[in-house]
Amino acid sequence: MINFQYARATDVADAVRRIAADPTAKFIAGGTNLIDLMKEEVERPARLIDISRLPLNTVEETAAGGLRIGALVPNSDLAYHPLVERRYPMLASAVLAGASQQLRNMASTGGNLMQRTRCAYFYDTATPCNKRAPGSGCSAIGGLNRIHAILGTSEHCIATHPSDLCVALAALEARVHVTGSAGDRTIAMADFHRLPGDAPQRDTNLLPDEIITAVELPARGFAANHTYLKIRDRLSYAFALVSVAAGLELDADTIRDARLALGGVAHKPWRDPSAEAALRGEKANEASFARAADLLLRDARGREHNAFKIELARRTIVRALTQAARGTPQSQASKKIA
Ligand SMILES: Cc1cc2nc3c(=O)[nH]c(=O)nc-3n(C[C@H](O)[C@H](O)[C@H](O)COP(=O)(O)OP(=O)(O)OC[C@H]3O[C@@H](n4cnc5c(N)ncnc54)[C@H](O)[C@@H]3O)c2cc1C
Ligand code: SF4
Repeated sequence: MINFQYARATDVADAVRRIAADPTAKFIAGGTNLIDLMKEEVERPARLIDISRLPLNTVEETAAGGLRIGALVPNSDLAYHPLVERRYPMLASAVLAGASQQLRNMASTGGNLMQRTRCAYFYDTATPCNKRAPGSGCSAIGGLNRIHAILGTSEHCIATHPSDLCVALAALEARVHVTGSAGDRTIAMADFHRLPGDAPQRDTNLLPDEIITAVELPARGFAANHTYLKIRDRLSYAFALVSVAAGLELDADTIRDARLALGGVAHKPWRDPSAEAALRGEKANEASFARAADLLLRDARGREHNAFKIELARRTIVRALTQAARGTPQSQASKKIA
């Protein structure tokens, strides 16, 4: 039995004060990731700061024509919010591709960004893992690495970030609003998660005394031509082997603008502006989609068990862009379950 203390934050300032005062403390929102990690003794916070009752659970329109999504908006509410369904269906689709209805009812927007990798060695405290125990080694590099990264890896860690929501947020160029002891700031989604480098224990650029308060979407939602395509071992309740968030703006069959982000392949949602630039001005056809896929994957490197992901990613990108161009997105596959 590992004891920990529990306190409920009364407001955002109180949450920041409490986390700044105790480096061993952790926020808890829906608890769907943190409690599992505590049960496995991967995370051992001495104090939990419950932020679940803070007033960060609304979705509001911004003056700039976008949306501000509170950090505590549950994944279900986000996916079924009328403005998200209508203006950002790629995001709704990505959220609904994740976890299960029950989990999505509990899981928060901020918690989804902060969820940790699903590398099995990270969860197994009997094995070396640089992310869990810095300097101990990486068991996945010479071990079972079927689900691991093919892009942006380091000799210290080859884990992937498991979120679906974050892949769509990256494609939509969301910004993350945070508050800490030094005040408020926003972080571009592209800079929120980190590559492993020589410090894989740090998943994000959030500072230890900061809390996510909201995620802001810009006005452009790529609603007419989008898809979120997730390839996984089972059709539900499984993390992505590869996923693709694709958005196109078309003039007839010519691509005016494109967004493309990959999940399941790196320590963060993977975007490459050169792949998107290569699509602009091109015809929306298989040849241009394949060229963009090749650009996006040009530095991909497979290992013993995950080399298949390179070709899988290539095909998934082409299929996702084709669905987006045709206006036939991957089904959101769900009616709200009361
Ligand atoms: C069986 C299972 C299957 C799943 N499948 C998928 C899937 O397919 N796709 C997918 O995307 N996700 C999946 N998930 C992950 C799930 O989406 C996350 O567990 C959830 O989003 C985390 O949100 P939470 O509110 O429960 O976070 P918590 O568990 O409460 O917290 C997680 C982490 O975030 C930190 N945190 C939470 N809120 C904030 C904040 N506002 N500011 C700063 N730090 C914060 C906590 O301190 C903690 O470190 C799955 C989870 C499970 C258990
Ligand atoms: S891939 Fe990363 S998380 Fe997995 S064992 Fe290696 S260091 Fe740990």
